[in-house]
Amino acid sequence: MKKIILSTLAIALCSFFINCNTGKKSNDESENSKNMESKLKELITVKLTTDLTKLTSKEKQMIPLLIEVAKLMDDIFWVETFGDKEKFLNGISDSLTKRFAEINYGPWERLGDDKSFISSFGEKPLGANFYPADMTKEEFEKLKDKNKTSLYTLIKRNDDKSLKVVWYHEAFKEKIEKAASLLKEAAKLAEDEGLKKYLNMRAEALLTDNYQPSDMAWMDMKNNTIDFVVGPIETYEDGLFGYKASHEAVILIKDKEWSKRLDKYIATLPDLQKQLPVDEKYKAEKPGKGSDLNAYEIIYYAGNSNAGGKTIAINLPNDEQVQLKKGSRRLQLKNSIKAKFDNILVPISNVLIDESQRKYIKFNAFFNNIMFHEVAHGLGIKQTLNGKGSVREAMQNTASGFEEAKADILGLFMVTKLIE
Ligand SMILES: [Zn+2]
Repeated sequence: MKKIILSTLAIALCSFFINCNTGKKSNDESENSKNMESKLKELITVKLTTDLTKLTSKEKQMIPLLIEVAKLMDDIFWVETFGDKEKFLNGISDSLTKRFAEINYGPWERLGDDKSFISSFGEKPLGANFYPADMTKEEFEKLKDKNKTSLYTLIKRNDDKSLKVVWYHEAFKEKIEKAASLLKEAAKLAEDEGLKKYLNMRAEALLTDNYQPSDMAWMDMKNNTIDFVVGPIETYEDGLFGYKASHEAVILIKDKEWSKRLDKYIATLPDLQKQLPVDEKYKAEKPGKGSDLNAYEIIYYAGNSNAGGKTIAINLPNDEQVQLKKGSRRLQLKNSIKAKFDNILVPISNVLIDESQRKYIKFNAFFNNIMFHEVAHGLGIKQTLNGKGSVREAMQNTASGFEEAKADILGLFMVTKLIE
């Protein structure tokens, strides 16, 4: 069986322990190098594979084009999170430190509270590189420009130091235009009409920073084998205001057999909603409309999705207007879940779980637990009963914590009901 092996991490790790002995170093440097060696040992390399025989010859030709686009997103993310990648990396002499900096997209350890691991760098700016590092919140509030809070603009300084708003498609013009033309080339190869339409519209979105039409098209895709999540999407990287979206890309291959199993559970949602142990009025909404759940193999992470911990499930789009009209899609990344199961969950369970119970630590159970959590997000109500708008709006910054807790407990409720 022919397999694709594509992974930024896999390529990365080849250079792991080469060049450790580069002759004389100051004590500081060799101390740091030792520290980097142990930091790098905390991480593990995983090959992301898929069965190529599932793809048609045109689909196979699309993959390298999508990887090109993904790499451009990666470059843009570097600018958004840090600044000048080349200058920064070329300035690091110790190869292990350099490797660690590449993995972290800068001098701050993402899985270590963003602490600086290169002494010449201080704390990570809260607003990353979306805003000038010396900008205060007050200064931002005084800026008169309605686009300043857009997900798709950067805040920069004019020559006279005043603030200005720059759209992503202007700030990253060259890379964006290249990415858009590659997407259109890939669209020509697409045999699935939905995918063809989405890729063309996503190219337009990159060029204009108007993403909604392409999000709608993404929701309409149902039968495509290849999926490509690309563009500025999540706002976690903007720790100052949470306004700015970061560029990323993931290339996915749908596992149609596993996806069929998931359909079965989505279909049970309306019935399970009726069985929720709460007052009738809290279960009047009909769940699962327009939403779908599918299993994928991920073969490439780039940009924001490749920085720090790797995602194992995707729930998009974020645009609430699109959600209202079309629902949302939930993507389970099967091979990534398996990699975390083998390399993280099993070793932990070997320490924490009683030996007699370890036989229950199975991949299927882990996958199902994540799956039922995701499906359970669809249970309950989305609108408040007292006219205060959506539950999310009414609960503000406590909404997402409660929503996650709800999904955990209702996931277990679903399993119990299904067993019964
Ligand atoms: Zn969740």
